[in-house]
Amino acid sequence: MGVVGRAESPEWPRSLDMRGLLAAGWRPTPFQEFVLKIHSRCNLSCDYCYMYEMADQGWKSQPRRMARPIIDQVARRVAEHARENLLRKVGITLHGGEPLLAGPEHVRYAVEAIRDAAHPDVEVEFTVQTNGVLIDTDFLDLFAKFGVSVGVSLDGDESGHDLHRKRADGRGSHRDVMAGMRALTSPAYRDLFTGFLATIDLRNDPIATYEALLAHDPPGVDFLLPHGNWTTPPPGRLPDSSTPYADWLITIFDRWYHDPGRTRVRLFLEIISLLTGKYSASEAVGLSPISMVVVETNGRIEQVDTLKSAFEGAAGTTLHVSRDPFTTALMHPSIAARQIGVRALSETCRSCPLHRVCGGGHYTHRYRTGTGFLNPSVYCADLKRLITHVHDVVSADVARRRVGHAAPPP
Ligand code: SF4
Repeated sequence: MGVVGRAESPEWPRSLDMRGLLAAGWRPTPFQEFVLKIHSRCNLSCDYCYMYEMADQGWKSQPRRMARPIIDQVARRVAEHARENLLRKVGITLHGGEPLLAGPEHVRYAVEAIRDAAHPDVEVEFTVQTNGVLIDTDFLDLFAKFGVSVGVSLDGDESGHDLHRKRADGRGSHRDVMAGMRALTSPAYRDLFTGFLATIDLRNDPIATYEALLAHDPPGVDFLLPHGNWTTPPPGRLPDSSTPYADWLITIFDRWYHDPGRTRVRLFLEIISLLTGKYSASEAVGLSPISMVVVETNGRIEQVDTLKSAFEGAAGTTLHVSRDPFTTALMHPSIAARQIGVRALSETCRSCPLHRVCGGGHYTHRYRTGTGFLNPSVYCADLKRLITHVHDVVSADVARRRVGHAAPPP
């Protein structure tokens, strides 16, 4: 039997029945997070990067830097979208490539243009997501002046980080990132730091990795599963019931959960939140609508760019900020597919008892040539094991708390 809004097609979700969805009462969720590819190149050559090393090579045809007229159009479109949808606050992530390659003056121009267009009725929160190599006091003074938060990609200790995050000549980047982190975490700038993105490598010891991150006292850590799918599996993810990524994460979870001074580890907190019936705010788990959109360096409106790991053109649309309001993108089938919750899940996931917590995992990880994104996550076995473990630990803790013998859960 068919499902409203869902066409059984090998190219799903390209043939998503948008009219059927609307007739059934579905309405899109406005974008609240805008990712600007302010610079399309990078000063590192990380071998797992979905931008440069995976299926989509579209970066080669992008201009290096987002031109000021494009920034002006983005600013106008963001403000327009917020006002049309009565949003009082939106988020802008300055992204790349490596966004700091754009230079402080260009970053300042982007922040001022977007904030001016949104003033006075829409608040804009800015974050820059950087590899950390170019962080210096020029940038930090600018970020402090304009209230731009800073997230850094760090995979752990020097040997763990430099496994992948290298310069083009093969030198690791850890030493340079540490110089940037010393500046960022100095008292004058510490408040700008939002935390780390850390991509998992199974060869790295999980506790050594976690402790290397904790050494910087980060406000948050987000462990990322390396991108891959059923056609191009992630490293070490064999087509069997083994759970290497769950086992790696559980080692950290058990340490984290029982640490009274724990930092915010996003994946764990999201799973706990979902287990207690709340919503997620993450792409990694849960069924909440994804309200994020990307603007490429040339002004093209795109979907979440991790899709570039799936196949050439996977993140693309034909929309451009010079012609198209963001509202038009909300009706793009591939963007809608990220907002329709359980209706975007495969039959396997829909019948899985964990699907409201797992949500089929990260959308990008469901891809298989021939069936598109209508599959469980390639990390299905890991997600089952991790979610079940978190459930068991939290349940046991709650039971103990009821009789007054344990610390409160996060
Ligand atoms: S990916 Fe696996 S664990 Fe997650 S909902 Fe689907 S079947 Fe369940």
